Order: sequence, then structure tokens, then C-alpha cells
Amino acid sequence: MQTNFSPNQLADPHVAESEKILRKCVHCGFCTATCPTYVTLGNELDSPRGRIYLIKDMLENGRPADKEIVTHIDRCLSCLACMTTCPSGVNYMHLVDHARAHIQETYKRPLIDRLTRAMLAFVLPYPRRFRAALKLAKLGRPFIGLFERIQALKPLAAMLKLAPASIPAASPMASPGSHAGQGAKRGRVAILTGCAQSVLDPAINETTISLLTRLGIEVVVPPGEGCCGALVHHMGREEAALASARQNVDAWTRAIDQGGLDAIIITASGCGTTIKDYGFMLRLDPAYAAKAARVSALAKDITEYLAGIELPEPARKPGTVVAYHSACSMQHGQKITRQPKELLAKAGFIVREPREGHLCCGSAGTYNILQSEISARLRDRKVKNIEATGAAIVATGNIGCITQIASAASMPVVHTVKLLDWAYGGPRPEGVREESLVAAE
Ligand code: SF4
Ligand code: SF4
Repeated sequence: MQTNFSPNQLADPHVAESEKILRKCVHCGFCTATCPTYVTLGNELDSPRGRIYLIKDMLENGRPADKEIVTHIDRCLSCLACMTTCPSGVNYMHLVDHARAHIQETYKRPLIDRLTRAMLAFVLPYPRRFRAALKLAKLGRPFIGLFERIQALKPLAAMLKLAPASIPAASPMASPGSHAGQGAKRGRVAILTGCAQSVLDPAINETTISLLTRLGIEVVVPPGEGCCGALVHHMGREEAALASARQNVDAWTRAIDQGGLDAIIITASGCGTTIKDYGFMLRLDPAYAAKAARVSALAKDITEYLAGIELPEPARKPGTVVAYHSACSMQHGQKITRQPKELLAKAGFIVREPREGHLCCGSAGTYNILQSEISARLRDRKVKNIEATGAAIVATGNIGCITQIASAASMPVVHTVKLLDWAYGGPRPEGVREESLVAAE
């Protein structure tokens, strides 16, 4: 694609990066076929190619964002299916991240939208605030029907619907410290405790620590780590995202300096995509660029890490049919496709892949709150495809997808690591009945 930026504009490194990306696009439109919003809405402006044109026009003319571009960029899930499909290697992720930051800087949203976004950015990345908000959500439940009838309050209704009926107790294993590996030491890793996942399902990291330590791997929870920054990054709040990235880079750099790390283990693939991008996000910061690149290189999804080490024979061979839902951040963001399925199969599960596996479930960070109608359509389509597999359980590697799919699916939805842990001698995952685990097809 031809571009027309002035030398002055190109002096801005963010614009220069976006110009490089834009020039790679050859307008072929292959990406439209796999874009969930184009497939759902059928509007070219809700396709990757349409959004690329809108972003190009906004950046080239150096103009503030307007209502039209905000509408179509807000509808983008950042699922990155377009990047998997694109034959020209267009880095849509970095382009849309730039567009979102530009929107945040130049566009004044309606008051209720600003308040909703400010509230999400204030609450979600902080486990204590999030926990308190979930408790308060119980009081708001009776008003869901009312909020749903008022367009501006739909995000509030979506939030209340997603809030779980009960909140698990905080995990003591998430506190800073070290969990020694059993037997001969095979490695040392740090684990991201994260934010929303640690409140909604602390058992995911507890299970991960238990499995890794049984395999002889020391697991460190470094003091000072927190939210990866993805939630605010996707809302265009660049400074807040970079502050989170710097805080985590500092925490993990101290852990590296104090005993070395083989990997930084991440159990939410949405966070993994962002942490693997820290090197890029902090490339312009001389104090952090090298450290951030080192952290990104060490970041590994739990399934990616387990696939790279030798595992014993499973303690049980379940024979259960499991539908594997590959989160967008796993398959498109991190290009991890084989490992989770191979690990499940090696552990004795019968793995089935739902049709249209490339399409997003509609969770996408805060998307199911801010774009609840499109999100619900994508969720229902996803659940229909999952249920058609006849599986007894759904396995996936991202808390957002777990919450989203579980809100409509008839079978339990669990993190992949919980099924692996169970097969390798751990306890039955909470919420999964014994019959579901042992029933063969
Ligand atoms: S990130 Fe997903 S929703 Fe956004 S343009 Fe690409 S395929 Fe479409
Ligand atoms: S597939 Fe790639 S090159 Fe083709 S229109 Fe989409 S982004 Fe551009």
C-alpha cells in the first residue's frame, strides 16, 4: 500500500513504525474471511482491511480520531486472526495499538463511556479492588434487566452478568516467595500471579505451582509483580500499560539476578501475548529496552513450557473427550497451536477441535463488557460449535475465554493445566464431576 507521510510525521517513531506496517498491506482482503467482526456484521469497515484504511487515513492526515473510526476500532476484538491469515506479514497488532493510543489522546468519548472505561481501568488490574467490586456486584444483580434496556448502561449489565455468584478465597500461594521443587532440581521459573485471574480462579496458578514443583521445578513468585498491562493497553491507555510493564520487568529482573530463571510462566494467554511484546512496547526507553527484551524472551505459556520438558507417564488414563478451545491470544497472538492438544492427548484425553476454531469467543479482555451484543453473538456461535463435538469438558488456556464460554455452555470449562495436573496425579478440578472425567466416548 502506498503511503504519503511527511518527513516531519515520520520523525515520530510511532508513526514511522505504523507506516512500515501499512506499506506491507497489499489490499488482498484475505484477512476479511477470518475476521470475527466482518463475519458477524458483514461491513468492510469492520474488517481488518477496512480498519487499516481508516487508520491510514487518520494517521496520514494527522487528524484527531472521529466517531466513525472510533466505532470501527472499538468493535475490533484484537483477536489477531487477521495476522494469522495475512500472507504479507502485516503486523495489525502494533498498528491497532497505535490507533487506540491515538484515539485515547485525541477523541473525547461520551461521558458514560469515559466513566465506564475509567472504572474498568481503576478496578480490573488490581485484585483487591476487583474482589471488592465483585462483592458489590451482588447488590446490582436485581437491576440487570433495567440496565439492559438503557443503551448507555449495557456495559454495566454485561459486567453484572459476568460476575460470578461466589468468589473463591485469595490464594496464599500467590504471595511473594518460593515453592521448592520436589526431588532432584530440574529448573527454576517465575510465575505471573496476574490480576483478574487470581481473583476469579486462583486455583489455576495453585495447580500450576503444584504440578511444576512435583516435576522438580522451583517456582518463584517475585515481589512487586502485578497486572501485565494488557487490559489498559487494549483501551489505548499507553502510559498505564507501560507502567505495568516496567513494574513487572523490574520484578522479574531482580528474580533473574537473584538465582536465574529458565522461564517466566504465564497461565493466561492474553497476558502472555502482551508480555511477549514488552520488548517492543519498551523499545524506545533506553533504561528498559534490553531488560524488557530479555523478559519477553523468557515468557512462556505453561503449555509451551511443559511441552519442552520430559514428563512422566500419567497417573491415570482418563479417555475423556475434551473439546480444546484455542484462545485467540494463544493461537494468533503467541502462535501456540500444537502443544496444548499434544499434552492433553499424551495425558490420555481424547481431544476434539470445534469447527471455526479460528473465530474468537467474544471475550477479548473488556470487549464482552464494552461490546456486549457482538460478544454475545460470537459466544453463542462458539458454544454451538463446542457442543457439536460431543465433548464432556472444554479445556482452554485463558481466564477470559473460561468465563465467557462457561456463561453459556452446558459442560464444565476448565483451564488446560487443571486437566493435565489431574492426569498426572493431582486432585480432580473443582466444578468437574468424576463422571465427566472418566466417561469415555
Ligand atoms: S484483530 Fe480480529 S476483530 Fe480485529 S480486525 Fe483483526 S481479525 Fe478482525
Ligand atoms: S490479508 Fe494482509 S495484505 Fe491482505 S488486506 Fe489483509 S492485512 Fe492487507
